[in-house]
Amino acid sequence: MEINMGKRTDVAIIGTGPAGISAAITAAVRNKSVLLLGSADASDKVSKAHSIRNYPGLPDISGSELAKSFLDHLEKMNIPVTDKKVTMIYAMGEYYSLQIDQEFIEASTVILATGVSFGRPFPGEDENLGRGVSYCATCDAALYRGKEAVVVGYAPKEEADVRFLAEIADRVIYIPVYKKADADAMPQDLFPDHSNIEVRRCRPQAISKRESRMVLTADCGEIETDGIFLLRESVSPGKLVPGLELDGNHVKVDRSMATNLPGLFAAGDITGTPYQYIKAAGEGNVAALSAVSYIDGLAART
Ligand SMILES: Cc1cc2nc3c(=O)[nH]c(=O)nc-3n(C[C@H](O)[C@H](O)[C@H](O)COP(=O)(O)OP(=O)(O)OC[C@H]3O[C@@H](n4cnc5c(N)ncnc54)[C@H](O)[C@@H]3O)c2cc1C
Repeated sequence: MEINMGKRTDVAIIGTGPAGISAAITAAVRNKSVLLLGSADASDKVSKAHSIRNYPGLPDISGSELAKSFLDHLEKMNIPVTDKKVTMIYAMGEYYSLQIDQEFIEASTVILATGVSFGRPFPGEDENLGRGVSYCATCDAALYRGKEAVVVGYAPKEEADVRFLAEIADRVIYIPVYKKADADAMPQDLFPDHSNIEVRRCRPQAISKRESRMVLTADCGEIETDGIFLLRESVSPGKLVPGLELDGNHVKVDRSMATNLPGLFAAGDITGTPYQYIKAAGEGNVAALSAVSYIDGLAART
């Protein structure tokens, strides 16, 4: 779905797993405008589950069936999924500004339901973020016109961004670090139409700077380049929202799913264990009801 950039949405929900979908359904039932951002296929953590036995009312359902019924539910309620990655969320006072590609959209409240991202940043990643390390090809490709870049891609869908970058940069080295099943399906010649893309199979280990250039250290040696793109499925919550209070790897919330930032709520795996569908869906429902109360409170004040 195309985003209406000019209009402020009541509730922007980031993530299309059970938490985000449940939040979207509840906010829509409560007559709030909803922008649901995530994946048109819902969530890999749902669709890839072999068999699910602990979701009430569905004693034996496969992950792909559950994902389909979540998407059917959204369709029945006319809630479109906007298949876009949010790269940054800024608190602006009485609203939030969300960066999507190179555009910004406004929302009165935000529900973070991006799931949990396992794995730590590479040594040197945090220090160089915005200074040679980027998470978003669409946002930063222009900086590499006529230069070189290394892209580390965590899923096959990132290959589109590699092609886009190769149209701007002189040379792109692509390091796919896919899960085994996805890697097995990878064609021998990934980019037949782009002679300036070189694919290397190795595991990145660390990032550093040498004078004005970036260095990616991997198990296949050092790669010196102008910029490094790390294209992961999700961005860690602390990097997504400056000023957000964390509890270890998770977002700190109270029982209403409120974070330390007024109008910003979180639900699902992102708030902590247990990592379970029904817990995620339940928290999505609570977060949406809290967002509705928050918006109604804003309206009462004006
Ligand atoms: C193989 C497997 C089997 C499982 N089996 C079970 C089971 O049988 N029973 C059970 O209860 N639990 C099971 N789980 C756990 C369950 O999958 C998770 O607890 C649940 O999916 C969490 O839901 P969530 O909505 O919090 O996040 P997720 O389902 O992880 O969804 C996160 C969503 O956020 C999107 N996203 C992330 N970052 C961004 C961004 N920056 N911009 C836009 N979108 C973004 C992602 O694309 C995704 O759509 C299983 C997990 C796996 C991996």
